Amino acid sequence: MGSGTWKHELVKQLLLSHEAEVIGGIPLSANPQEDKQIWALTTTSLFSVRSAYWIAMEGMSNGGSTTVSNDGSQRKCWKYLWSINLPHKVRHFAWRACRDILPTKENLKRRKVLVDSCCEACHLEAESSGHLFWHCSSAKEVWRATKLFSGLMNSPFSSFMDLMWYVIMVAKWGNEEVEKILMIAWVMWMNRNKARHGGEKKSSEALFDFALEYLREYQLCCELPAVAQTKEYPKWHPPPMKHGKKIVASLGAVETEAKAFEFGLQFARDMLIHDFVLEGDSLVVVNALKETSPPPALVAVLSNVRSLAHGFRNVKFSHIGRQGNRPAHLLAKHAYGIADFSVWIEEDHCFLEEALLHNVFVAFS
Ligand SMILES: [Zn+2]
Repeated sequence: MGSGTWKHELVKQLLLSHEAEVIGGIPLSANPQEDKQIWALTTTSLFSVRSAYWIAMEGMSNGGSTTVSNDGSQRKCWKYLWSINLPHKVRHFAWRACRDILPTKENLKRRKVLVDSCCEACHLEAESSGHLFWHCSSAKEVWRATKLFSGLMNSPFSSFMDLMWYVIMVAKWGNEEVEKILMIAWVMWMNRNKARHGGEKKSSEALFDFALEYLREYQLCCELPAVAQTKEYPKWHPPPMKHGKKIVASLGAVETEAKAFEFGLQFARDMLIHDFVLEGDSLVVVNALKETSPPPALVAVLSNVRSLAHGFRNVKFSHIGRQGNRPAHLLAKHAYGIADFSVWIEEDHCFLEEALLHNVFVAFS
């Protein structure tokens, strides 16, 4: 810093020659400024493991040559995971495992819930998603019994996402294998939870058999209705962005509505949707998002909403009366009756179809 030129000798000493050459070619600012470390892959300029992970994975999928992370392949991977033909609870598990938000001992230790993160099956390493589902000897036993990973048993998958990225995006295994892997991982997770609460720990063969039998039964149940459904529920293609509606379940209380905005943004972030309109029927929340001093009860949630919103190219918050967005109203009613949560991507359900058509009709009439 200070001289306005690169210290080429120092750069060469510290880095590989081709890296030093690239760096030497970067023009420096004409106005000398204080040196700063900046991570170019996040909007905050701060390093995040997630962004580094994606760029490394992208490099793997491009045969080892690291390139700038491609949003499209991340989105493709998430879409694939959500669309796979497995019971909803298994897909939900897969999503949580891939995002590394399962309550593994390592995650609980990070959140200061536990002091010890040691794996209870082998007592050798911290129980991370990578250890639990891949490196642990008990996981290896299960995978060996499945014969799915012959020749790959020593692969250094560092997390569950790492493993699934390889399977889906790099090796491009078929649906049948991916379904088996996710079902087996779910059964492993259930078994681990049972054992932690004093239940019986099943053998690797028993886990494998149970997973396959469950998968077979589920797929048999799906077969008949699936044929009828392809006719009954045509694939939904969202309208162009200009007239598009991002559906937000309106759940009543103002704080809940603010939380719905937060979840909507988190979902858009995962799906890498950069330009969208987020609608809500609470005028209080929409106005508060535009104000510098929102009501005290909403300060914490709205500050998170604002900081999430900064990560997008173009996000607008819009207010619409309950009757103005009938699909959102119907979704909220539907959500009230389900214990877990559901995500549909590029598909709709009959109860929404009529309401969507009604909205399109009103918008264009
Ligand atoms: Zn272990």
